[in-house]
Amino acid sequence: MKRTAALGTALCLAFNMLASPAAQAHHNALLDPLRFHNLHTDEDISVPHRHGQAISSTANRFLRDWRRNEPTRMDSRLFDLLIALQDAIHKRHPDMAVRFNVISGYRSPATNASLRAGGGSQAKQSLHMEGMAIDIAVPGISTKELRDIATCLKAGGVGYYEADGFVHVDVGNVRYWPSRAYLKNLSC
Ligand SMILES: [Zn+2]
Repeated sequence: MKRTAALGTALCLAFNMLASPAAQAHHNALLDPLRFHNLHTDEDISVPHRHGQAISSTANRFLRDWRRNEPTRMDSRLFDLLIALQDAIHKRHPDMAVRFNVISGYRSPATNASLRAGGGSQAKQSLHMEGMAIDIAVPGISTKELRDIATCLKAGGVGYYEADGFVHVDVGNVRYWPSRAYLKNLSC
């Protein structure tokens, strides 16, 4: 077991010496777990995630519809996106320990409907109901910067909720709201 670990370290070192900087960053990102804090339940979780890997029941539970205490099976592409996002944040802020504050993960159709009935801005066909969307903030960077970094990924929808201090990301079609005006000044 010890020898296997040592061999793993040696291979990692060899990989880092041979690999391009981009591949190195990718490699390092894979080893870095996703760290979350749920602002509604006050729970914390650290999730190792590799591209395409299914989401664990623990992580599904963490991202549950907290109003109804109801989890779903989150789309693994959402965690692929968050890994890419974390990687992109690291590139701009190498010394920052990225943590995603979760405002909303899964929303059941019942919760989504009642929020809409209460005058909320939730979409009728919200991807939160499909486990394909998450509303997040990252302590240490502004909501605007988080929006810009997420936009540069071109990995799905990006919603900017400036007043509420969060960014919605999803793995649906690439689209931006409430305005696309910022795109022309964005340098990725
Ligand atoms: Zn959202």
